[in-house]
Amino acid sequence: MAAEVRVRYAPSPTGQPHIGNIRTALFNWLFARHHGGKFIVRIEDTDQTRLVNGAIEAILDGLRWLNIDWDEGPEVDGPHAPYVQSQRLEVYQGLTGQLIDQGNAYYCYCSREELERLRRARRPHPNPPPEGEGNLQWGNGCNCRRLGRAGAVGEPVGDDDRVVRFAMPQSGVTRVHDLIRGDVEWRNELQEDFVILKSDGFPTYHLAVVADDHLMEISHVMRAEEWLPSTPRHLQLFQAFGFEPPEFAHLPMITGPDRAKLSKRHGATAIGEYREQGYLPEALLNFMVLLGWSLDGSTEVVTLQQIIDNFTLDRITKSAAIFDQDKLMWMNGVYIRDLPADELARRMAEYIPRQLDADEQDYLCDIAPLVQERLKRLDESDDITAYFFGELPPDYDPATLVQKGMDTEGALTALQAALHELESRTTGDDFGHEKLEAMLGETGQRLELSRRQFFGLLRTAATGRAVSPPLFETMEVMGRERVLSRLRLAAEKLGAVG
Ligand code: GLU
Repeated sequence: MAAEVRVRYAPSPTGQPHIGNIRTALFNWLFARHHGGKFIVRIEDTDQTRLVNGAIEAILDGLRWLNIDWDEGPEVDGPHAPYVQSQRLEVYQGLTGQLIDQGNAYYCYCSREELERLRRARRPHPNPPPEGEGNLQWGNGCNCRRLGRAGAVGEPVGDDDRVVRFAMPQSGVTRVHDLIRGDVEWRNELQEDFVILKSDGFPTYHLAVVADDHLMEISHVMRAEEWLPSTPRHLQLFQAFGFEPPEFAHLPMITGPDRAKLSKRHGATAIGEYREQGYLPEALLNFMVLLGWSLDGSTEVVTLQQIIDNFTLDRITKSAAIFDQDKLMWMNGVYIRDLPADELARRMAEYIPRQLDADEQDYLCDIAPLVQERLKRLDESDDITAYFFGELPPDYDPATLVQKGMDTEGALTALQAALHELESRTTGDDFGHEKLEAMLGETGQRLELSRRQFFGLLRTAATGRAVSPPLFETMEVMGRERVLSRLRLAAEKLGAVG
């Protein structure tokens, strides 16, 4: 293990941060925290054509929401600032010059068509790779490599789109000992002379990632498996520069239940969507860590401290991780039930669109334990508490007051009896659920109604709904005045029908 663990999360701001991408951030952060090392955030924005406004903010917000803090990077800076690649162009241009001088890179003036022609002529195997420069089978390189054509970086030459390419060795193999996947090797002659500096003077990802991983003293590159095929390029660059490469660990792919790579068709993929849907950040974090890591192969609910204590590479799996929405929903419920009532109320308030005043906040603290069992996601908060607030219950059909085996008249009589009891035998301070249950239980018996009938009637009258948390606790929390006014309203509704 290197003297100090320094790992980085290097997102490209090309859209809303994807769950897989944030999983990479999380694993790097946990690895740093386990080893008492540093977690660095670096923005890889060298592909200017793919930038999306607001993406950097969304990425950083996602991290903050999950309580993932970074030791160096945007906003906090650090000894290797700037941590945004578009602000480091001189670094990459200088390094490109070095490679050209050493004969490890060359200017290439070939047009797309020329490269395509070359690829066809030199295709070394019968199964052609898909179209596109990225998959050129380079053979012995283009004419530019042989001619060693020179020119200054960033200076346009005629109509050509000039780029700088890395001169890959044309024989031998490039090998990596991946800390998760084991030994992997690639034949060099099958690698193309990839672009390192584009005609706009920006580096490609390959050059920038190697330059910064070296300059920022990254000890371990932990990233998604899809980057494994880029690793031979990176290793060759490290070698050409004479830089010591970091360790590599490629994280398993995330798939949907159908084993296809996780995508929109499997449901929400952006971290912001999970936040909007009312997942607790700690539940999502626990869920995400199981996408490739496990404590002992079976424990699912794990505290952050337990995760940090046990976040070692031998617990990371090679096989793809399946993203199971039902499990996430279940886990969210587990975390919701575990919250202290005040904390739950505070979180629920964030999902209730109107501003709650101080009294309503207190009221919500009393409501929270009643709905805690049934709440699966915080975005249900407004609906699940709606009938506690406001003067009147939601507009319900008076027919729903009349329970099975009763008629309108019977329901009205029963309601009036309940009102009479509550008005004469309770006060605002003497409205506890045990008393209510004993008292109204007797009333129901006297009326010769079953509990289901009488309490069903009272539930609908008090809440406007057929299903609610335990009736008498609900009535106690609602308070005498609110309950009385609702029961009176229900009686009025029934009276108007009858
Ligand atoms: N910028 C790359 C990404 O968006 C980073 C890949 C790497 O970690 O090397 O995933």
